[in-house]
Amino acid sequence: MDPIIIIGTGLAGYSVAREFRKHDKDTPVILITRDDGASYYKPDISEAYAKDKTSEELVQKSAEEMAEMLGATVKTHEQVEAIDREQRQIRLVGGETLTYGRLVLAWGAEPITLNLSGDAVEAVHKVNNLMDYRAFRDSLPDKARVAVLGAGLIGCEFANDLIGAGHKVSVADPAEWPLQQLLPKEAGNAVRKELAHGGVEWHLGQAAVGVHRADNGDLRVELDNKDSIRADVVLSAVGLRVGVKLAEKAGLAVDRGIVVDRTLRTSDPHVFALGDCAEVDGHWRPYVAPLMQCARTLGKTLAGGKDDTPGQVKYPTLPIIIKTHLCPVIVCPPVNKHGEWQVEGHGTAIEARFVDKSGKLLGFALTGEATSKRRDYLKEAPALME
Ligand SMILES: Cc1cc2nc3c(=O)[nH]c(=O)nc-3n(C[C@H](O)[C@H](O)[C@H](O)COP(=O)(O)OP(=O)(O)OC[C@H]3O[C@@H](n4cnc5c(N)ncnc54)[C@H](O)[C@@H]3O)c2cc1C
Repeated sequence: MDPIIIIGTGLAGYSVAREFRKHDKDTPVILITRDDGASYYKPDISEAYAKDKTSEELVQKSAEEMAEMLGATVKTHEQVEAIDREQRQIRLVGGETLTYGRLVLAWGAEPITLNLSGDAVEAVHKVNNLMDYRAFRDSLPDKARVAVLGAGLIGCEFANDLIGAGHKVSVADPAEWPLQQLLPKEAGNAVRKELAHGGVEWHLGQAAVGVHRADNGDLRVELDNKDSIRADVVLSAVGLRVGVKLAEKAGLAVDRGIVVDRTLRTSDPHVFALGDCAEVDGHWRPYVAPLMQCARTLGKTLAGGKDDTPGQVKYPTLPIIIKTHLCPVIVCPPVNKHGEWQVEGHGTAIEARFVDKSGKLLGFALTGEATSKRRDYLKEAPALME
């Protein structure tokens, strides 16, 4: 029997394997990863200091332990470089080919690299996995000056975590307020104020354009208004992009991610995708809750499902919890853009409702103490995909 091959051992790859094994103990499963295959909960990375954990302590299980638990083969430090759909084969760097019965793409997304000038661009860190985090954390001296490029979810969470550990943090972003892609201004400003109170120095409305090495060894982040930030370490957190080339070369439909329908099938019925690399029925949601929904559905489908009918994934109301502990945030991005924010509250307790013309709630954002109202909002907010 040809195996199910899963490319990727992040939360998506391991979760779908685990779900599959609940229904099928016999079909061979091979997972392939270009990293060491350690199982970890990625969101822990940006609150490792708050949780008092080193990068080593974030590992939940090694690749060997995962292989044993899943009754699967886990091939580590192997990169897939081509997919031949006609032969149902994948090719690894180095030339080895493997034949699949069904193929699952769970290869995640890559951090975007800013186009920066300067002689110290190579020193800029990006963190999207445990190995990146290990390198970043090892580079931090005590009480380091850290320049974070990007005031989105990852940048803000790191800023909060790093000041908690005694580092001095500056954050630069061309946006006017933190988390601008997720929050209305008042809610973003609540986060700005509380983190500033905790010690974060904001450079908002300012884009980084270069990273240089100063004579005394400092890094100097050059901003587009001619200001600069002196730092020991620079962390870039400016968003993710799905690596679609491999899928495109294989002739699979791609858009922002690898295009799949609600059964998680790509344009080839033997190839599926989930997690950060997948765009499900038009939605690209690079978060844990959606991929867990997908893993449950796909695990059953791969095992045959009821009458062999593939399950359809549903996205209920899926809030994003932003781990800026100095000013906690819960946000449900609007299910469509046809509406406007209505904002109430004072200080850092902001309640923002995104409503359509008839007043129907399409999304919401809560900050600070207002997050205690999450249950009421979750009851009222619509599902993303029913
Ligand atoms: C710091 C941080 C904090 C976060 N916090 C939250 C949070 O609080 N809540 C939330 O919902 N989400 C959060 N996220 C996002 C969430 O962690 C991701 O959506 C999720 O972990 C993605 O899992 P994945 O398995 O799709 O991708 P990944 O974890 O990126 O796994 C991809 C896998 O594919 C492998 N791979 C890639 N290309 C190849 C190839 N060509 N050949 C072989 N293997 C390959 C990699 O080695 C890896 O094993 C956070 C992300 C980060 C970085």
